[in-house]
Amino acid sequence: MTLKQDIGNNKLIASLVLLIISFFSLLGYLIGERIIMTQAQNDASMLASSSGDFLISEISRFELLPSMVQMCSCVKNLLEEPDNTDIRDKTNLKLEEIVSLSDAQVVYLLDINGHTLASSNWKSKQSFVGNNYSIRPYFIDAIDNKTGRYIALGLTSKKLGYYLAKPIMSNNSIQGVLVVKIGMDILQEKLQQQFEQREEEVIISDKNDIIFISTKTDWLFHSLKTLSNNELNHVKIYQTYADIAIKPLELTDHKFLNRYARILTSNKKHYILYINTLHNIQLNVNIVVPLDKYYYTRNLSLFLGIILGLFISTFLLFLYIRDTYQKNIVNNAITDPLTGLYTRLYLQEFAPKLFLLHQRDHKIQIAIALLDLDFFKIINDTYGHSAGDKVLIEVGALIKKCIRKEDVAIRYGGEEILLILPCINTHEAHHLLEQIRLTIEQFKIHWEEKRISITISGGLAFASDESMFELINKADIKLYEAKHSGRNKIIY
Ligand code: GH3
Ligand code: MG
Ligand code: MG
Repeated sequence: MTLKQDIGNNKLIASLVLLIISFFSLLGYLIGERIIMTQAQNDASMLASSSGDFLISEISRFELLPSMVQMCSCVKNLLEEPDNTDIRDKTNLKLEEIVSLSDAQVVYLLDINGHTLASSNWKSKQSFVGNNYSIRPYFIDAIDNKTGRYIALGLTSKKLGYYLAKPIMSNNSIQGVLVVKIGMDILQEKLQQQFEQREEEVIISDKNDIIFISTKTDWLFHSLKTLSNNELNHVKIYQTYADIAIKPLELTDHKFLNRYARILTSNKKHYILYINTLHNIQLNVNIVVPLDKYYYTRNLSLFLGIILGLFISTFLLFLYIRDTYQKNIVNNAITDPLTGLYTRLYLQEFAPKLFLLHQRDHKIQIAIALLDLDFFKIINDTYGHSAGDKVLIEVGALIKKCIRKEDVAIRYGGEEILLILPCINTHEAHHLLEQIRLTIEQFKIHWEEKRISITISGGLAFASDESMFELINKADIKLYEAKHSGRNKIIY
């Protein structure tokens, strides 16, 4: 392998290691991200469901109250005789009594035009008696024979309340509307207490996603989405939140994870917003989970990914180095360091298989040639051992150039070279060896301003049924003949 190839290989390996580590780091990060998303959603869903149950139980305590109040005879009497002051006083007292027995903030009776005939707060300065609430959606729903539910700031009291309104029926027609206003102060306090020690926030929003209860107080009376013109008009016309201007929260909607959860970003912090829609009471419980409390898990997963990537790339690197090392050892053992020709070890490994093939099918011809440099000792003696080495190197290179791809050249002894020539006929073999002999004869080896000439002698033998070593012997005998009949020749 050349130095250039080596550097190229090292670069490739470094890139592969980097790729493996990056891949596993990314995998670790993504798995970690998935785990924390699931964890955060599970935690949020549990909180949303428990807070939802709490809210439903708080509201449902009042569900039967309007029907109970209806049963008082004074209520019906007042609807029939709205100007009768006796009945009105009686009804006011009755409603006051009912409120004192329940947690409701106000209970009041409206006629079919939305006029308040009687109210539990009749004595207070902010008494509802005489006020008209016909514009309130809860009244409109109740007069339409539905249960009116509405969250709003009181028009008179400016206090936040959940309005529960039911129609009062008589002779199959609606005579009036009974409204229970449930105060939100206690509810807010209870939720605040529940979330005091937690990193999560709870938000209660109305049908339009406007926040009216929040443990994060600066989010109050903001909307979780950008309201449409219709929705903004509704809030304005019905004076839901008096004159508070409802603005959307300054959040960046990242993406919806599913129907219930989405990722939000506020001040560069990421949250999961989990929505539990309470259809029965027409409210939404939203849990906001800050994701940073889960980052430890994601970072751990990323770290494990890096470690796994390092481990795998180290293991692969080890396998690669071991393989290369083994290849190098084998290569060194079968390659002659001086000439670059194969060694005798290669002959023992390679040639027997070729001879087996020949024994199976005689059409696969094998020829063996044994070549020996003529008077090489004289070159060593005349020019020195180093010059002899150079001659060996050059002769080796010349032979390699002359032979075919399938031929094998082996440094058999000091200055003896063995050629194994598979699938070759007599004519081709003669031609090839003659070419080798001539090429070497004509070549001049440069050594310290001098030109050294060298010749070779050789013996060639073709395999019939003998073993490899018998065939080498045959070639050796012919080489001996060549030496004794004047050298610089090949005997066939
Ligand atoms: P012949 O024509 O009869 O083959 O004569 P020769 O001189 O070539 O044969 P001989 O066997 O007498 O000498 C071979 C010489 O090759 C002896 C030895 O020192 C030399 N030799 C063997 N291996 C090496 C080598 O790796 N480097 C060098 N420089 N000389 C080597
Ligand atoms: Mg010799
Ligand atoms: Mg010799």
